[in-house]
Amino acid sequence: MKILQVALDVPLDTLFDYSAGDCGEAGIGDRVLVSFGRRKMVGVVAGIADHSILAPGRIKPVLQVFRDTPPLSGEILRLLQFCADYYHHPLGEVILNALPVPLRQTKPIAPAKAAAYRLTEAGLALEADALPSRAIVKHKLLLNLKQAGTLARSDIAALSPSAPQALKEFLAQGWAEETEEVGAAPSPRFIGPGRASYLPSLTPAQEQAVNAVLGKLEQFQVWLLHGITGSGKTEVYLRIIEQVLQRGGQALVLVPEINLTPQLESRFRARFPGAALVSLHSRLAAGERLRNWSLAQSGQARIVLGTRLSLFTPLPKLMLIVVDEEHDGSFKQQDGLRYSARDMAIARAKQAGVPVVLGSATPALESWHNAVTGRYQLLELPARAVAEAALPTIRCLDVTRANLVDGLSEPLIEALRTRLERGEQSLVFINRRGFAPVMRCGQCGWISTCHRCSSRLVVHLREKRLRCHHCGHESRMPHTCPDCGNADLAPIGLGTQRIEETLIGLFPTARILRVDRDSAKRKHALPEMLERIHAAEVDIIIGTQLMAKGHDFKKLTLVGVVNADGALYSADFRASERLFAQLMQVSGRAGRDTLPGEVLIQTQFPTHPLYQSLIRHDYNGFAESLLTERKQAEFPPYCHQVLLRAEAPLMETALAFLRKAKAAAPTRFDVTLFDPVPAQMARLAGNERAHLLVQAASRGALQAFAADWNKALTGLDGRVRWALDIDPQEF
Ligand code: ADP
Ligand code: ZN
Ligand code: ZN
Repeated sequence: MKILQVALDVPLDTLFDYSAGDCGEAGIGDRVLVSFGRRKMVGVVAGIADHSILAPGRIKPVLQVFRDTPPLSGEILRLLQFCADYYHHPLGEVILNALPVPLRQTKPIAPAKAAAYRLTEAGLALEADALPSRAIVKHKLLLNLKQAGTLARSDIAALSPSAPQALKEFLAQGWAEETEEVGAAPSPRFIGPGRASYLPSLTPAQEQAVNAVLGKLEQFQVWLLHGITGSGKTEVYLRIIEQVLQRGGQALVLVPEINLTPQLESRFRARFPGAALVSLHSRLAAGERLRNWSLAQSGQARIVLGTRLSLFTPLPKLMLIVVDEEHDGSFKQQDGLRYSARDMAIARAKQAGVPVVLGSATPALESWHNAVTGRYQLLELPARAVAEAALPTIRCLDVTRANLVDGLSEPLIEALRTRLERGEQSLVFINRRGFAPVMRCGQCGWISTCHRCSSRLVVHLREKRLRCHHCGHESRMPHTCPDCGNADLAPIGLGTQRIEETLIGLFPTARILRVDRDSAKRKHALPEMLERIHAAEVDIIIGTQLMAKGHDFKKLTLVGVVNADGALYSADFRASERLFAQLMQVSGRAGRDTLPGEVLIQTQFPTHPLYQSLIRHDYNGFAESLLTERKQAEFPPYCHQVLLRAEAPLMETALAFLRKAKAAAPTRFDVTLFDPVPAQMARLAGNERAHLLVQAASRGALQAFAADWNKALTGLDGRVRWALDIDPQEF
């Protein structure tokens, strides 16, 4: 009897045996419906065997083999298997979680559900000058529909935040109509490489980078593209992708969540008007995600532009992977399968025998180390692509003894005033949303803390609420101190809202926009705000890290950095690496075009080496000094780490589990186990968290250790939630 070994979404590290039954042949990669306990579940056939250790009478038949989509390819199953092994995570969970949600459900999917649109006869006959010339978005919509034939709703939304509204009008006018065609097969005009009319001629450094990668297009190689902000890294990706399309291949481009802006997507679409580009990210509706995933799986989509989760998209003609801003923390998933999409992208490229380009102005130290030691090939773009766009001048403003107006120093206020007078844009960067980080009683010293987390409650003055930014708990702002009854409570410190109020007071006629997670909460709010900035409808932006990355605002010439010092002396050994990257990124927003840029950093430590390197735009020097420190301390990249995380209602339960775990650890490997300690954020959402760090010089030894340990940990203490975190990024 043929036995199907089925992967199921259950936290058990095993496959489950079923017989083929009478619903026809099922092969590896097929989705099947099976009964598991009392439930029906969807699984994926991951293996086929002749025998089972189960008695024949106990083997149940599969109930159904789904034929609604093609089976998962061997290529993608190999990647998922590698991922499960590397992160010591059950294969079934890894496979099922890589599928779009509709494919995990127990019903077959209805074909081509996603709505798509095309022009009617009337729409096709419509000349562009029949539309008012100011209706830019309508022009864009008309042009794109003409070019593509059929566009999905998500493609239209990607054109501009107001494109869906324009579409509504097209529908009302009878210029466009709904069609279901695109889910099954996009219009042929949608496929195949195209070329935009305007192409900048490459700088010598760009050309060198492009040629280096193109010279080795059909083999595995990790390229580290280290280019300062505005050096034209994206242009390098575009040129390589162009060749990939010409050779009939597919390209996977991974970007951090925040970076996947409509601007970036339009830049790709404009360059490849004929090539089917799909995006994949968590904000897409389930149906859209499935459609885009299927287009990639069938090979029709030639470029997949997506966030972390798009790594697991089946791509039969994969020829290139790009990881933009490869240092970004959002590539690492922090729950469930704690994988790094960057590291798995490298694994995928290796399996597929294709190049992977990691791009960044501030590479992760691990990547930099690999480049310096020759495991990765280093490509440098040392100057800005637009010759006139010099790097911004960076200065520190010593605020130790300065008179601050609600946190802003006189020179910064003056610089803002100058930009206003010149009609240029400014960004005040502060990485803390809300009005103030904490509320304090001047009488007894009470401060607002979260009862569920080891954190403070942030003051949101306008809503008169205190909020925990970690667990979401919120309460009304008290009028009097809960401890002593004193009515003299004060918000302490700075947040985006406070800076906003200060600036409104200082510059009452300026157009001021606050961009943080609160103001961007509404759907489409962020793209709309970005569009307003691009359209120069904003003078001063107050922004958190949402604003730090990727954006290319031509009129932005001043960046003021407020309150960055906190990370200089943090307990987290990666804090200074992150701060440097963040400040480089945010500085890179200034003076991207021909107007010179200036960056002013308010600090109490103006001579700190981090700021000194920043002033010289010296990533290489800073990375060298960090590597020296890491080597002395034997931290990554000079060792490899695994963190055993434990979570329980009581700290003692979590710590006791970790002590048992330490005692149960296999001893035949050359690894170092540290003592259990509470996590930096010891309490989160009502749970106490602790961890135990394991380190080793050899990754092989650490992996073998972790595999054995993982087995020993199972069933050790039912009250504790635990997880192994391979290559942990947060402690
Ligand atoms: P990065 O991704 O490194 O931040 P971009 O690729 O966004 O840089 O390029 C920065 C700016 O320079 C963009 O406006 C881009 O259009 C422009 N640019 C890139 N390469 C060239 C080039 N070779 N010649 C002229 N302009 C260029
Ligand atoms: Zn008090
Ligand atoms: Zn909380």
